[in-house]
Amino acid sequence: MTPLLIRDREALAVALNDLPSPRGVVMTMGALHAGHLDLVRAAAARGGTVIVTVFVNPLQFGPDEDFAAYPRTLDDDLRVLGELSPAVVYAPSAADMYPSGAPAVRLDPGDLGNVYEGAIRPGHFAGVLTVVAKLLARTRAEVAYFGRKDAQQLALVRQMVRDLDLPLEIVAVPIRRDPDGLALSSRNRYLSPEQRVQALALPRALDAAVALAADGAPPAAMRRAALAVLTAAPRVEVDYFDVVDATTFRRVGARAAGEGLAIGAIRVGGTRLIDNASVSLGGR
Ligand code: AMP
Repeated sequence: MTPLLIRDREALAVALNDLPSPRGVVMTMGALHAGHLDLVRAAAARGGTVIVTVFVNPLQFGPDEDFAAYPRTLDDDLRVLGELSPAVVYAPSAADMYPSGAPAVRLDPGDLGNVYEGAIRPGHFAGVLTVVAKLLARTRAEVAYFGRKDAQQLALVRQMVRDLDLPLEIVAVPIRRDPDGLALSSRNRYLSPEQRVQALALPRALDAAVALAADGAPPAAMRRAALAVLTAAPRVEVDYFDVVDATTFRRVGARAAGEGLAIGAIRVGGTRLIDNASVSLGGR
């Protein structure tokens, strides 16, 4: 069944009046792949109403980033979503989303928004949280589905929900990978076949960290091993690799215990890729 495509907020408000709870939202920038579809499937499994948003949010791109080049493939997106039949696909224009231009009031992500992805992409998470808040209001979502692939985004959305008492349940969905280990991303289509092979250094670095964690190694050893994999890889530039607390994104030390998160970001040619994996800390 082809989902109902809605392009403006008034039509969305009208459509939502007739749709059952719980309203679940999957927010995307389109160029959908199997990772996005996992989120839609998780939402569909809940019953109620599934709303998929498709919006390339200008607010979260820096001036030198790929906003103009970001793939926009709405027809293909609707085709793949047709098989999963969300009730509504809300794909607003920038004018519908920001009728007065860029909003003067934006959400401040705080410290968590200034490290790792936020340090490399200033203003990114303020843009993300602002559009997430607007999309939550417009879709009247009761449940929102986010991928673990964007772990810092997930942590920030959870923090926003806590700090602002938003009446929203967050569901985290595991990372979908290609068989060779590369995490699916809309940006993977920028990679040449050769660059795609080079990009595998990132999941291999994460594997190295996970293997050391399983042997009880401290975070410093995980970092060293992962960075050795990344720096040995041809034409891979490392933005960061670290082992952090999954909630605060503070770097963990030798005495940390429980679940940590190994996070990495690289550039291959002009393409930025991020990925992460859970690691057990404290020799467990
Ligand atoms: P994006 O379109 O890249 O903004 O992503 C939209 C949502 O899909 C976010 O919650 C992402 O974390 C999630 N997502 C993107 N890639 C993957 C993946 N490979 N596995 C799981 N979730 C993903």
